[in-house]
Amino acid sequence: MFNKFLGKFSHDFGIDLGTKNTLVYVEGKGIVINEPSVVAINKRTNEILEVGEAAKKMVGKTPSHIEAIKPLVDGVISDFEVTEKMLKYFINKVHAENFALIPRPRVVIGIPLDLTEVEKKAVEDAAKSAGARQVYLIDEATAAAVGARLPVTEATATMIVDIGGGTSEIAVISLGGVVAWKSLKAAGNEFDNDIIEYVREEFNILIGEQLAESIKIAVGSATPLEEEQEIEVRGRDLLTGLPKALMISDKQVREAMSRTVLKIINNIKIILETTPPELVSDIYERGLYLSGGGALLRGLDKAISAATKIPVKIVEDPLTCVVRGTGILINDKELLDKVISPTNFG
Ligand code: ADP
Ligand code: MG
Repeated sequence: MFNKFLGKFSHDFGIDLGTKNTLVYVEGKGIVINEPSVVAINKRTNEILEVGEAAKKMVGKTPSHIEAIKPLVDGVISDFEVTEKMLKYFINKVHAENFALIPRPRVVIGIPLDLTEVEKKAVEDAAKSAGARQVYLIDEATAAAVGARLPVTEATATMIVDIGGGTSEIAVISLGGVVAWKSLKAAGNEFDNDIIEYVREEFNILIGEQLAESIKIAVGSATPLEEEQEIEVRGRDLLTGLPKALMISDKQVREAMSRTVLKIINNIKIILETTPPELVSDIYERGLYLSGGGALLRGLDKAISAATKIPVKIVEDPLTCVVRGTGILINDKELLDKVISPTNFG
């Protein structure tokens, strides 16, 4: 009753707590936060120095007493305390800037499919201690499907593959529930590591994570490009210890990343094999949807489609799909009740 009264005045949030990026959606305002999930901490005082974009700039460049932490690496909450601080920082930022006098918000948070109950409780507690009045957890795959306005509550199968930084979430959804799924630790970060490894093995040159990511975004692809591309980058020559430039082509990058592309495709096939036949035929008819930043890897849709014989579609604006889904859910209680499982907290 009291909650209902508060609800009239509060602005509720949708949050995508991604391994790579954290986004916050507020009704009527849209996406108000879109920043890297990074926190810079002074280890001597345990004080937070920067969060988000400013903290990311410090990655790999900090003096020894400062640590830039990515608290959600691999999709699990590897560092609860820092996650809590990060959530608190973002929630406070939105709350203070926009509605200082308004009651604490209700929030829907998108999380990976394979979190344990303990990890889910940790996310819920972090959000509550960060100021949320009520917390609903939803798996990112369902949130992405809702964000893409796919008919998740109907008696037809929706297949969505959300490729983020730490995990690829593969899910088949029908009647509001996830009927087959897998959370795979092969996603954007793994592509970056593939490139780092390739450059070290082929050229004896060491490059950093951020450079590997920019190579992937600039010339990366899963199927051959119409026009060949190459890019010049600099790393450290492992023989001399000195900086050295190298040219790397789309073909080389594709070769470097091919094993991770294959891993994603093989796991999509495994999920298709465990999906009931009626639902598989829906998927063949309606297609498979790709979301998350990894969906932007050129030719990935084609590669998946060629291997599975299923039409593959990329959702609109794949990087914001999950947070838009959480934003829709926090404002549509009926839909939220249909997709949230009884084991969810809230
Ligand atoms: P998360 O949900 O884990 O925070 P995101 O959905 O935000 O992840 O996606 C981040 C991943 O997408 C990163 O690995 C990033 O390198 C990758 N990415 C972003 N843009 C592109 C692009 N144009 N091509 C390939 N990968 C991309
Ligand atoms: Mg995500």
